[in-house]
Amino acid sequence: MRQEDGFARRAGALLRAAANDLKRDDENAERDLGLEHGTFGPHTDGSRPVDWDLVRRAAQVWPLNERDLLPVHDDCPLGVAVTREKESLASSRVLSRAGAPYYEYRDTAMSRIASYRPEWIRMLRTVDDDDADNPLVQWNRGHLLYQFTYFVGPVNYYYRWNGASHCVPMNTGDSVWALPFGPHSFAARSDAEPAYILALTYGGALLGDAQRELAVLGRQTAHELAVPVAGEARDTAALISSFLAARAMPAAELAARTGLSRRRTEELVAGSAAPDAAELVLLADGLGTSVRDLMPPRTGTADGVSVQHAESARSWEVPGEGAAAYRITGLAGDPLHPHTSALQVDVLLGDVQRAAPLSTYQHQYLFVLGDDPVLLRWEFRGERFDETLRPGDSAYVRPGVPIVFAAAEGGRPRVLLLRIAGAVTPEIRHALGTMAPGGIDRYVAEDRLWYSKEGN
Ligand code: FE
Repeated sequence: MRQEDGFARRAGALLRAAANDLKRDDENAERDLGLEHGTFGPHTDGSRPVDWDLVRRAAQVWPLNERDLLPVHDDCPLGVAVTREKESLASSRVLSRAGAPYYEYRDTAMSRIASYRPEWIRMLRTVDDDDADNPLVQWNRGHLLYQFTYFVGPVNYYYRWNGASHCVPMNTGDSVWALPFGPHSFAARSDAEPAYILALTYGGALLGDAQRELAVLGRQTAHELAVPVAGEARDTAALISSFLAARAMPAAELAARTGLSRRRTEELVAGSAAPDAAELVLLADGLGTSVRDLMPPRTGTADGVSVQHAESARSWEVPGEGAAAYRITGLAGDPLHPHTSALQVDVLLGDVQRAAPLSTYQHQYLFVLGDDPVLLRWEFRGERFDETLRPGDSAYVRPGVPIVFAAAEGGRPRVLLLRIAGAVTPEIRHALGTMAPGGIDRYVAEDRLWYSKEGN
């Protein structure tokens, strides 16, 4: 990792924020943590390190976790971090199944800021049919991470859900988005041409705090907290029931608040009927929520996956100066993850000045497909950067960094983009948007005691 700025300062800010939350001023914090007088301030402003002893002591005497005081590393200080194909090659390893080589894996661009674990994977097993039960196919047990897969060459995709196995023959440009823990496999249909995938796994909000909280709360609670997404009235009913329990409110009180009949209210709570738009507004009012809190997500997955074949994928142009800059093709995704976008970008212009900047709130991963190199231009904190990326190169781009692609040496470069949300969910974005003035800056890096010793 590059020389990193800011880690000590971020650690200090977390310590200050934790002490504020626990209503400890410097003297109290020093006493609790066994620190010398006058040293807590320097620990919180980054001039003294927050070392492991201090973290451990804080987790012993304060009701918090070591993790709460540990910041993340910034391994992408220039806005974009490029991984060259030769670095990917250096990570190459062959994994065997049942004693025979099955996949060659290569790491591509990853960052400690985002939950991507994108692998280039070559199929070493060749099959000559589309039989889901072909004994040559070795299955995994499924895994936690969501998986977006982009296919190159003749590759069979195998997936299993509720005991039923499926095989879908894929070709270049086909893609699939899959839910966690579904067993799956891949095999080549030919060894005469390249057959590989970009297996772009990511955890999003499933990783991190939620998983750690549920690990403590336990399996039974996790099962109880699971909300169905069946596309049925009971999906909404589960949300309404949750709020009724949270408010300690019987259906009769909800009926009284909304003006809906007792019978209708009970139907909606039981899930034997779904509320219409007007009823949703009444229910939200009665429960003190927003309408969106009562609306379940929908999913287009079938048996845990959403397949997008290239021939039926929609594509559109993004205008540049005087001409289209890119042809974008929408790849596999699902409404369950509205903040994930999988895109294939064909770069149409050679002049970087005329190309259009692409910017998003999402974390971005890109991989250069095809045969042509692409010029990547980006701007970060007032500086402009240009890098030529060759086929097989990949990169991570921080949220909000505008990027521009141009054909570096003519041709028609093709780039795979996978954009995902991180821990900054819509709830957090709304929280940021409703903070008191100055709050966002202190949330990002708390730099002060929560009150003034001198008084107002
Ligand atoms: Fe996988």
